[in-house]
Amino acid sequence: MKIEFLGTGGAMAAPRPLCHCHVCNEAREKGVPYSRSGPSVFIHGPNVLIDTPEDSYMQLNRSSVQKIDGVLYSHWHPDHVMGRRVLETMNADWINYPPNGTTMDVYLPEQVGIDFNTRLGSGEHLSFFESQNYIAIHHLTDGESITQNGVTITPFRLSEDYVYAFLFEGDKRVLIAPDELYGWNPPDLGELDLAVVPSGVFEFNPLTGKRQILEEHPVLSEEATFEQTLEIIGKLNVKQVLFTHIEEPDRLGYDDLVKVEEKLKLEGKNVSFAYDTLLVNV
Ligand SMILES: [Zn+2]
Ligand SMILES: [Zn+2]
Repeated sequence: MKIEFLGTGGAMAAPRPLCHCHVCNEAREKGVPYSRSGPSVFIHGPNVLIDTPEDSYMQLNRSSVQKIDGVLYSHWHPDHVMGRRVLETMNADWINYPPNGTTMDVYLPEQVGIDFNTRLGSGEHLSFFESQNYIAIHHLTDGESITQNGVTITPFRLSEDYVYAFLFEGDKRVLIAPDELYGWNPPDLGELDLAVVPSGVFEFNPLTGKRQILEEHPVLSEEATFEQTLEIIGKLNVKQVLFTHIEEPDRLGYDDLVKVEEKLKLEGKNVSFAYDTLLVNV
């Protein structure tokens, strides 16, 4: 399997329009790896796309993706779905009549399918695509797996139980958790070659130790912190960890994160921060 990070930003990608903080200025000036677009990842081998943030068009155009055999959604949040119209763009045929387009398989884990019916119009929009044969929707019940090109993919719920992570099992075993690790106590997932997890919010600056988020800020009872995320991955039996879903409000630039990575590697942790366009062989 090869993991391609299409976008490694969070709900606030960088540069954020109109923002002139140092992270956004640098991202605007230098681009990748300083800029981070919305959260999405592609897994070569099974050839599946996870989530369609509003940056999906641009991400897929600059990627090495040639063929998509399945699209998976992790949860209903806007930063993970709002680029869904790319499913129409990739599959519709507006030249020939009758049209000779393609149909892409879209897999919705149980709760995601339920939530799409009431959140952000995603269910209605995907049903429209299905009526035009751009996509075929497949509802997965909890516990159900799919197999694509010899790799078995099992979605499972996190502690925030409307959000799914995915276990990929082929020659190698890979965990992809796009978002929302708050309160998660990992089950025994066996030996993992790679885990891709959200970094969590930085309550403290990881280089200076200075508090960045007020103790009483409600985000701390909704989002896992970076420290909590390190505790969670400490419970996994995993060879390598890559952090993604890195939020612009954390105000950490690419160079800062490289320093954090070096510090953690000295502590014996095989962890690193993903950046847009990064391709990892596993
Ligand atoms: Zn998100
Ligand atoms: Zn900014």
